[in-house]
Amino acid sequence: MSTGKINVSVENIFPLIKKFLYSDHEIFLRELVSNATDATLKLKHLTSIGEAKVDYGSPRIEVKIDKEGKKLHIIDQGLGMTADEVEKYINQVAFSGAEEFLEKYKDSAKDSGIIGHFGLGFYSAFMVASKVEIITKSYKDEPAAHWTCDGSPEFTLEAADKTDRGTEIILHIAEDSLEFLEEFKIRELLTKYNKFMPIPIKFGTKQQALPKPEDAPEDYKTEYEEVDNIINNPTPAWTKQPVDLTDEDYKNFYRELYPMQFEEPLFNIHLNVDYPFNLTGILYFPKMSSDMQMQKDKIQLYQNQVFVTDNVEGIVPEFLVMLKGVIDSPDIPLNVSRSYLQADGNVKKISNYITRKVADKLKSLFNENRDDFEKKWNDIKIVLEYGMLSEPKFYEKAGDFVLYPTVDDKYYTLAELKEAITANQTDKNGKLVVLYASNKETQHSYIDIAKEKGYEVLLLDSPIVSHLIQKLEQDNENMTFTRVDSDHIDKLIQKEDAQISKLSEDESSKLKTVLEELVPKATYTVQLEPMDSAMAPFMITQPEFMRRMKEMGQTGGGG
Ligand code: ADP
Ligand code: MG
Repeated sequence: MSTGKINVSVENIFPLIKKFLYSDHEIFLRELVSNATDATLKLKHLTSIGEAKVDYGSPRIEVKIDKEGKKLHIIDQGLGMTADEVEKYINQVAFSGAEEFLEKYKDSAKDSGIIGHFGLGFYSAFMVASKVEIITKSYKDEPAAHWTCDGSPEFTLEAADKTDRGTEIILHIAEDSLEFLEEFKIRELLTKYNKFMPIPIKFGTKQQALPKPEDAPEDYKTEYEEVDNIINNPTPAWTKQPVDLTDEDYKNFYRELYPMQFEEPLFNIHLNVDYPFNLTGILYFPKMSSDMQMQKDKIQLYQNQVFVTDNVEGIVPEFLVMLKGVIDSPDIPLNVSRSYLQADGNVKKISNYITRKVADKLKSLFNENRDDFEKKWNDIKIVLEYGMLSEPKFYEKAGDFVLYPTVDDKYYTLAELKEAITANQTDKNGKLVVLYASNKETQHSYIDIAKEKGYEVLLLDSPIVSHLIQKLEQDNENMTFTRVDSDHIDKLIQKEDAQISKLSEDESSKLKTVLEELVPKATYTVQLEPMDSAMAPFMITQPEFMRRMKEMGQTGGGG
């Protein structure tokens, strides 16, 4: 047997990084702006603990296009690098200076918001650039350095005359990536990935209206001034404490998050946990609507205020995927496959935490203002009913706030419903019979009959109702659900003696025979109904069981 060391040659690795490191070339900008942010946050930390004796000031990051020179500049006022540090951090592929920093300043820096950790981000620049330059001046009293590399393993490193602190990265955009010299493209990327990053990012300038002078003449024309265009909001709502935010702040943030969405959210849930994992965020229950924009607006996942993805599958419990908002967690392993995600213990904990928070919030909304909760029921019921079916942890809590509306807009909790029907809606075996309609219009005559008899009739019209009913019946042995137009209804113990049909017994049975000839026996039954003259003297019903089988077949899956 022999052992040895695999020889990784940089010559081989570069093209690999270029091609496969990230499938999405556009993320180079996210990586470089993240590094600029890290450099600034590190300086902030070092000045705060007194290790860097310089004025932190109010630094920002600038992104600049030089279209003629085919160059893209990313400039920061962070801690900079000495020539030695460039050797150490840049020339060593896969050595992360961010990780080293966090390791060194462990306790004090753990909440600093530093982003990097794989030590590969910088090299993503070569996905779009044929040559990259770094001009950098450290906060330490050392000369500036100038590093140049064309993507081959050779680089040059020389002194530079930069005098102000910070780093400028210059990308010489490759011929196949010229789109990254377009203003709209860069703006699109900055808005997508950096909209909520913690250091202000300047991209170009914009016109801003000057305030109207007090003595302005009648025909005053608004005057404008040219100001820096800051593309991000460095302190988005989710980074603040709930006590510092008003309802209006939450709504404003929703608009900021989804500028194309004009519907207001119903309510929000502020997430904030730091043990056993870190997670912050705000989730919104939207008004259910079928418009396309609504479906495009998804929950966004951030890591330290850097946008990562809006595919939160596996992290947010499935039944909450229809919600809107943001989740920010440094503890979600993002560069791994989705199937791995599902097996990751932290991710499962996060998903459970979100379920619990959502249930708690629903419960408190219900307790604080039941009227308002009932008004919102129609918009939230699908999510909640689906949650009851798919998430046992949610189902356990659902009894506290899930509602069962009647056709007359009364709303019962399950416990209240049981109480309301105990007196007169039982079958021969004493089981409670819950009558429900799935459509007020088409089933109105059956609903009227049932109400006539003094029964409560629920209105359950979600597409997943048959699954939900099955689950409720499983867990409440003393209860059975029957749709108003099914054949079991006459087996209820009735409150009063029923009114008698105006037809004679003989006439009725003749009619029944005729009808039975017309109706397919396998799926429907004809029954005589004692009722008042305003209604038909008989009903054609479908057995509950037959219909449910059919419906469950249509919606697929079991409960
Ligand atoms: P990571 O960010 O994961 O540490 P990167 O490949 O993105 O890895 O960057 C490597 C290192 O280079 C950083 O950790 C940092 O030490 C240094 N670096 C990159 N960009 C800058 C910058 N703008 N200012 C100062 N240092 C930087
Ligand atoms: Mg990085």
